[in-house]
Amino acid sequence: MKNNNYLEKINFRALVETDGNDRIQDRLNIVDVFLDTEEHVTIEQMYRLLREKGYDYDAGFVRQCMNRMADLGFAQKKQFEGQPVRYEHRHLGRHHDHLICTKCGKIVEFANDHMERLQVAIAAEHGFHMLQHKMEIYGLCAKCRAQRRPLMPLAMAKPGERVVIREMAGGKTARSRMADMGLRLDDHVEIISNSGEGRLILGHDCTRLAIGRGIAQKIMVSLAHEEGEEACQEA
Ligand SMILES: [Zn+2]
Ligand SMILES: [Zn+2]
Ligand SMILES: [Zn+2]
Repeated sequence: MKNNNYLEKINFRALVETDGNDRIQDRLNIVDVFLDTEEHVTIEQMYRLLREKGYDYDAGFVRQCMNRMADLGFAQKKQFEGQPVRYEHRHLGRHHDHLICTKCGKIVEFANDHMERLQVAIAAEHGFHMLQHKMEIYGLCAKCRAQRRPLMPLAMAKPGERVVIREMAGGKTARSRMADMGLRLDDHVEIISNSGEGRLILGHDCTRLAIGRGIAQKIMVSLAHEEGEEACQEA
């Protein structure tokens, strides 16, 4: 979130000069580059941004400097699930929360007063005085959702495609027949042959399975690679 970076830099310089550190100019260069980005950056990304500006500092120094910035209240360290540690600006008196896309890693910031008050109230109901909180919403971003193809019947899948079983239509009987074949929701299946008529041959749990066209019409699947999921791996 944007703020007056110039004032932040002056503030930082004043604090770092009383810190008794060496390489003050190098530290200020790192602060400059950090404050000029509005991203949630990893040490790796900071290192690259610094290189682009012609500063070649080792990652250890960059990390030490970023952590000092966090101690001094200029940066905030964040670790979202499944992602490396990131740093973002910390603007005093302002708070925001995050939405994280589990597919592409996109991070979106939001602030909602109603929700903030609700969290304080919930804490109070349990006898807590809230000091801090993390609100992270994980899901698929709009772009990743748009890229996702709608479900299709297994009968439409092409040989060579890897699909994930998403839904089983056709009521109890059909579902118990699928269960008898060992097929469950979220299972990955590879289409070995599908000539458009008669039975399909599937690779499932690394065995081959013949499945009637009627049942294959009732099993709804999505393409496995579009979900970023791995297909059946040999154990
Ligand atoms: Zn919040
Ligand atoms: Zn995404
Ligand atoms: Zn943020």
